[in-house]
Amino acid sequence: MTDILLYDNWERQLRVFSPIRKDWVGLYCCGPTVYDYAHIGNLRTYLFEDLLRRTLELNGHHVRHVVNITDVGHLVSDADEGEDKMEAGSRRTGESAWDIAEKYTLAFKQDLHSLNMLEPQIWCKATDHIAEQISFIACIEQKGFCYITSDGVYFDTSKQDDYGYLSRLNREGLEAGKRVDIGEKRNSTDFALWKFSPANSQRQMEWDSPWGRGFPGWHIECSAMSAKYLEPWFDIHCGGEDHIAIHHSNEIAQNQACHGTRLANFWMHGYFLQIDAGKMSKSSGDFLRLQSLIDLGIDPLAYRWLCLSAHYRSQLNFNWDALRASQTGLNRLRETYLALPDGGSVNQSYADRFIAEVNQDVNVPKAIAVMWEMLKSPVIDADKKATLDYFDQIFGLHLKQWKPKQNAISEEVTHLLEQRKLSRMNKNWAESDRLRDEIKGLGFEVEDTADGMKVKPVD
Ligand code: AMP
Ligand code: ZN
Repeated sequence: MTDILLYDNWERQLRVFSPIRKDWVGLYCCGPTVYDYAHIGNLRTYLFEDLLRRTLELNGHHVRHVVNITDVGHLVSDADEGEDKMEAGSRRTGESAWDIAEKYTLAFKQDLHSLNMLEPQIWCKATDHIAEQISFIACIEQKGFCYITSDGVYFDTSKQDDYGYLSRLNREGLEAGKRVDIGEKRNSTDFALWKFSPANSQRQMEWDSPWGRGFPGWHIECSAMSAKYLEPWFDIHCGGEDHIAIHHSNEIAQNQACHGTRLANFWMHGYFLQIDAGKMSKSSGDFLRLQSLIDLGIDPLAYRWLCLSAHYRSQLNFNWDALRASQTGLNRLRETYLALPDGGSVNQSYADRFIAEVNQDVNVPKAIAVMWEMLKSPVIDADKKATLDYFDQIFGLHLKQWKPKQNAISEEVTHLLEQRKLSRMNKNWAESDRLRDEIKGLGFEVEDTADGMKVKPVD
C-alpha cells in the first residue's frame, strides 16, 4: 500500500502519516456544543472526520476515535464574555440546561447515524469530567502559566513564546492594533480556564473548585479529555477551520504548559460549508438541519454524497440544485450497483488506484473519479460489483443495503417542496397553498408540523 499523506496545519504541509503507537491511532474530534441542533455545516466537518477514520481503517489501522460533547463552558463570545451557550439555550427553549444537553446530544447522534458515520469508540461529556479539568488547571497553575482575576482563572499567553503558532498569529501586530477593552486580562489572547459563577445570579451548571465556585472554560475540556482517553501526545486532532485560531491554539497552549507536548502530531481541519457564499452559523438561529432536508424528501445519504464530491480542504457552497443533482447521481449509482451480478472479486488494479487517491490527503473526489472510470471499463460486471463494495468502505453509501423504494419522491416533487418551503419562509401563504395542491396532484400529501414539513403518499 502507498503511504498515507495528510495535511498537517501545524507544519502547513502534507506529511507522511506514521502512528505514534503500535496498536492504535488516536483521533480526537471536537464535538458539538449541544445548545441547539447541529446544522448541515457542522455535519460536513464530522463527515470529513468519518472519511479520515475510514481511510486509516482501510489501511489496516485500529483507530481510537474520541468525540466530546460540549455541554458547558462555551460562551457566546470567543473572548470569554457573555452568557454560556447552554444557559442561553435554556432561556430560549424554557427547558433546563441539562435537558437540552441531553436532547441535542441524542439528535446529534441520530444525525451521525442517518449519515452512516462510524460511531466513535468514546463519547465524552464535559460535565462528566469536571475533576479532570480541575486537575489540569491545577497543573497549569503549578507550572506558573495562569493568574486569577475577579471573574476567573486565566491562562497567561505571554508566558509562551510560540503561543498561536498553529494560526501563525502575529502577536505584536495584534497587541499594537487592538484598542479593545480587555478588562483585567493581561493580554488580549489570554483565555479563561475557570470562570466564577456570577455573584448576582444562579447558574444551572456550576461546581466547587480550589479557586471558587464556577465552571470550566471551553478549551480545557478538550485538553483534559484527550489526555485521559488518548494520552497527552496522540496522533490526530480534528475540527472545523474556525477552531485553528482560538480553540485549538488554546488547547495546545494548555498542553504545552502542563505536559510539554503540542497535544497531537497532526492537526487537521475541515473547511466550511457556505450557503450562498455566506457562512452557515448555528448562533444565528436560522439554519438548515439534516432533518430539514429529510422533511423535503431528500435522502440523508444524498447530502453525504454531496459532501464527498468536494475535498475537505476546499469550501463547499451549498445550494438546492447541487443537492438535487447529488440525489439523482446517488440514485443512478445505486441502480447501477443493483443491476450488477454477485459473485465477483475485487479488481486489484482499480482498488490500488482508489486507495492511492484516498491516501493522498483523503482525496475522495479523485477516488470517485476512479470509481466512474472503473464502471465504464471492460472489467467484468461481477467484479465491478465487488470493487464497488470495496470502495463503499470509504464512501459509506450503504450500497449493499439499498432497496428501491415504492412511492419514491420524484425530483419534480422535491423541487416543489423546496419552493413551498421558501414561500412559507417569505410568508407567502397563497403560493404555499397553491404548491400544496400541485404536490397533491402528483400524489403526495404535505403536512406542516412543529418539526417542519412532512410528506407522505396520498392514501
Ligand atoms: P459547534 O457545535 O459550534 O461547537 O461546532 C461543531 C463543529 O462544526 C466544529 O468542528 C466546527 O468547527 C464545525 N463547524 C461550524 N460551522 C461550520 C460550517 N459552516 N461548516 C463546516 N463546519 C462547521
Ligand atoms: Zn475541542
